[in-house]
Amino acid sequence: MNTSNFKIDMQCPRCGAPVVLDESECIVQCGFCRTRHALHTDPFPCYYIEPGPKMPAATEPLYVPYWRFRGMEFSLDKASPGFRVIDHSCLAVNTKGLPPSLGLRPQARPLKFIGKDTNGVFLPPDISGKTALKQMTGEGEDKIYIGETLSLIFMPLFRNSNVLCDGLTGIPVSISVSDLPAEKKAPGHQLSFTPCLCPDCGWDLKGRTDSLVIHCSNCTKFWLIRNKKLNRIEAAFSASNPDTKILMPFWRLQVEFNLITCSTYADLIKIANIPKAVQEEHKKQLLYFYIPAFKINPKLFLRIAKQMTLSQISSVPAEKIPEIEFHPTDLPLDEGAQAVFPALAEMAGHRKETINSLKKEKLKIHAFSLMYISFQESGSEYAQKEMGISLPKNALQKGFKP
Ligand SMILES: [Zn+2]
Ligand SMILES: [Zn+2]
Repeated sequence: MNTSNFKIDMQCPRCGAPVVLDESECIVQCGFCRTRHALHTDPFPCYYIEPGPKMPAATEPLYVPYWRFRGMEFSLDKASPGFRVIDHSCLAVNTKGLPPSLGLRPQARPLKFIGKDTNGVFLPPDISGKTALKQMTGEGEDKIYIGETLSLIFMPLFRNSNVLCDGLTGIPVSISVSDLPAEKKAPGHQLSFTPCLCPDCGWDLKGRTDSLVIHCSNCTKFWLIRNKKLNRIEAAFSASNPDTKILMPFWRLQVEFNLITCSTYADLIKIANIPKAVQEEHKKQLLYFYIPAFKINPKLFLRIAKQMTLSQISSVPAEKIPEIEFHPTDLPLDEGAQAVFPALAEMAGHRKETINSLKKEKLKIHAFSLMYISFQESGSEYAQKEMGISLPKNALQKGFKP
């Protein structure tokens, strides 16, 4: 397993200058014309690996697709939620004789987005992303994937008389041209971009290039990159402390379950066995799930989601954007919502019972917003003293990696 990020060679959508994008980045920042653009790759990014020098210059490359997944897997088929980190690739066509996975190839050569004028012939995938994920992770219906980066990566082959060769190493692969499916067409979806300017007032939006949420210091609005546009999102802050060092983003979700009764704080007191007597006011207090909107290893992720949700912290709407570092929001909203099940399983007093109900459960999101919680610096950690949460700095750097 190798979890290092891939690099993508691309061009600034405004001036065409070369930009090297890290796979984790969703904003293209041009060092030449100084513009920033949100990058939309929906439904998933499609890359190709540039052929290496072993491929003869005048040859037309033939590209074979591979699915790649990266994220956390939570399984609900155990007494407590099990989890692991996944980073795999697998062949996306049913053709024997091709390398089963990409291995280290994407690290050896830069990736590029497929464009209309990309030279080469592309084989379309005939295995769906869902089927491929099952093949990579084993059978089992009760698995939830969070923070997965699903992408399609095309590997080059070339024809040397009648032999097909690996476009990077030049070594022949053990299939011939006639073994490959006849249909050859590059995937249709194209990249699109939105300038990082406030849709309301036109100011430059602030935020790191790997953050899905960016903000306007002029009109105090927050914008979420989703569905090929910038979407207005409500953001609130925890009561701030004078020695706040960093603001950590959390998805604040109000949800409805189909079977389980868990919509008020009174319900949570019962489900999580909180040592508190249920009061009338608890029955009226809406319950919010707080899910980390950042990537961190599964064990900490679940623990923080539990601590934050149990605390039901109150918020203060922002009148002015604080001049403090914002940790990037790099876990998409939809994946935050998927984390509600494992988070609830983690909190439940009767885990087995709750997990069994969750297997049949359906979730509806009633409301969502982003909540920034202030953390102080404490040696090699960021600490939230009121809630007793500490985040090791190196765990934040490593993302999903344990
Ligand atoms: Zn530019
Ligand atoms: Zn604005």
